[in-house]
Amino acid sequence: MGQAGWRVINVRKRVKPMPGTNHEARWWEPQEKGRVLCTLCPRFCSIPPGSKGFCTIRRNVGGKLVNTAYGRSTGFAVDPIEKKPLYHFYPGSRIFSFGTIGCNLGCKFCQNWHMSKVQDVQYLSQFYTPEEVVQLAFDKNCIGIAYTYNDPVIFAEWVIDIAKAARRRGMKNVLVTNGYITPEAREELYRYTDAVNVDLKSFAENFYTKLTFSELEPVLDTLRWLVHQSEVWTEITTLIIPGENDSSSELDRLTKFIAQELSVNIPLHFSAFHPDFKMMDYSATPLSTLKKARSIAQKNGMRYVYLGNVLTSEGQNTVCPNCHRTVINRDAYFVDEPEMVDNLCRFCHHPIPGRFNMEEKPVIQNVNKQALS
Ligand code: SF4
Repeated sequence: MGQAGWRVINVRKRVKPMPGTNHEARWWEPQEKGRVLCTLCPRFCSIPPGSKGFCTIRRNVGGKLVNTAYGRSTGFAVDPIEKKPLYHFYPGSRIFSFGTIGCNLGCKFCQNWHMSKVQDVQYLSQFYTPEEVVQLAFDKNCIGIAYTYNDPVIFAEWVIDIAKAARRRGMKNVLVTNGYITPEAREELYRYTDAVNVDLKSFAENFYTKLTFSELEPVLDTLRWLVHQSEVWTEITTLIIPGENDSSSELDRLTKFIAQELSVNIPLHFSAFHPDFKMMDYSATPLSTLKKARSIAQKNGMRYVYLGNVLTSEGQNTVCPNCHRTVINRDAYFVDEPEMVDNLCRFCHHPIPGRFNMEEKPVIQNVNKQALS
């Protein structure tokens, strides 16, 4: 999940502690003795009256499930789209990014734990309507909105309302997510989503159980659905943690799954772990491990494998798989003009998968030069 913090704007316009917004949630069922069953994610929390679910922002208030973070964020930022990371989705664009608090996973290595582990909604900003969020994104000349930093699944009602408003303005919607969502809820959430980066944290059930308090299979199911049954542009990130998910055999199984069950054309980002949260006693991922992972992925047929969170020139650029020339040159978050004509390599006209047609890129015809400065 992309880390927060680049060019933060409008952070915490809160002037005094505010209670939760108690927006009535979707995806729940009443149970006996006033309990409610949340059906948004595969955790299926059964929540007694007055209590909250694992993710902390969905609460049982008077026998109804509410989303207490609706309309409020931990602050907004304008990020390069490459930071999500999305490398085949309007490269070089700016994306208006925000998250809330809480998470439906319990990753011991969370890199945004200062948001995902916060339990008190009084630390969120003042209330913003969906239209206000979209206007802020428009004013900052962003192509759209990224729901990120903590997992957007848990505040799906707000995501959907903003995403609908963004679509009405011709803007794009991007999710950065763990993919832990029920089939019942994903259909509606992804109906308004243009691109997603899904964290595939490991290919071992034991890793998901021990280090994230969740399960692998629902994530794989989401990925299959996204790639084969939706129109959402999909990229995948795997954070490689020394000693936990960096064995050659696991990387072989993970990349074979993507290549064989999803597509060799999916951009795959291997990202370096840095000691954080409850895993401070681990070492950072060596560059050699990331290069090994990339080599295994390429051996299994993956065409677009990138390295992130690390200083290296390897695995940064997009290379045409036909003529092997660089079509997108990147230096950290700086991107040269793609050597492409729409979705085609400029040199050999081989198609490059993704969304590159800048004529479709929203807002661009309304560029306000001052807003760019
Ligand atoms: S979304 Fe939150 S409350 Fe609902 S099942 Fe998942 S963790 Fe529990």
